[in-house]
Amino acid sequence: MSERLQKRLARAGVASRRAAETMITAGRVTVNGQPATLGQSVTDADDIRVDGRLIESDAVQKRTFALYKPRGYVTTAADEFGRKNVLDAMPPIPGLHPVGRLDRDSEGLLLLTTDGDLTLTLTHPRYGHEKAYRAWTEGQPSADTLEALLDGVKLEDGLARAVSASPAAGGAFVVLGEGRKHQVRRMLEAVGHPVTRLMRYRVGGLWLGDLDVGEYRELAARDLHDLL
Ligand code: URA
Repeated sequence: MSERLQKRLARAGVASRRAAETMITAGRVTVNGQPATLGQSVTDADDIRVDGRLIESDAVQKRTFALYKPRGYVTTAADEFGRKNVLDAMPPIPGLHPVGRLDRDSEGLLLLTTDGDLTLTLTHPRYGHEKAYRAWTEGQPSADTLEALLDGVKLEDGLARAVSASPAAGGAFVVLGEGRKHQVRRMLEAVGHPVTRLMRYRVGGLWLGDLDVGEYRELAARDLHDLL
């Protein structure tokens, strides 16, 4: 879709249409490296800059959300069994996809984004950002039992270590620096305390906060900073 440059600048929040006109006539705006002219027609494919700063088109504007994933929702994008999907809990936003996984029976903080680069960064094993969980278990794990999680417990895919693990009422707090399939459940089971309920409350420096089950909020630049 093409539109007049001053309208495009106003829509991008750069300035009012009148002020955008002034910027154009003052020579502060370029389109594809050339000085722009008033009333010039532009599309989303054009490289538009004000004082050298790129004005992003709406098409490439990235959006990221924190969702309190309810239990019973699968995190995979398509499910052949027709089960409830985390995208069902979100508004229909093109390109929105979950970052990493939470088990169907797990709940809590899940990130969703339209930003593929962010997903790659956050899910790259080298990145290794912490994830913190509150688990409810069969029996009350003692501090001594949970110590074993710090030393490492043998799982079928190798030794798994927690960054920290401490008792909580009817369960434990467990912080992991990696994310293998069912890892918290398997680790607590390995020390004799199968998990009956599992909630993630932090990813990196980003907390679930006061989100209620099924609620989401859009992340601002400051939140993304906490995350990375
Ligand atoms: N560990 C688990 O066992 N399940 C999750 O959903 C996340 C971490």
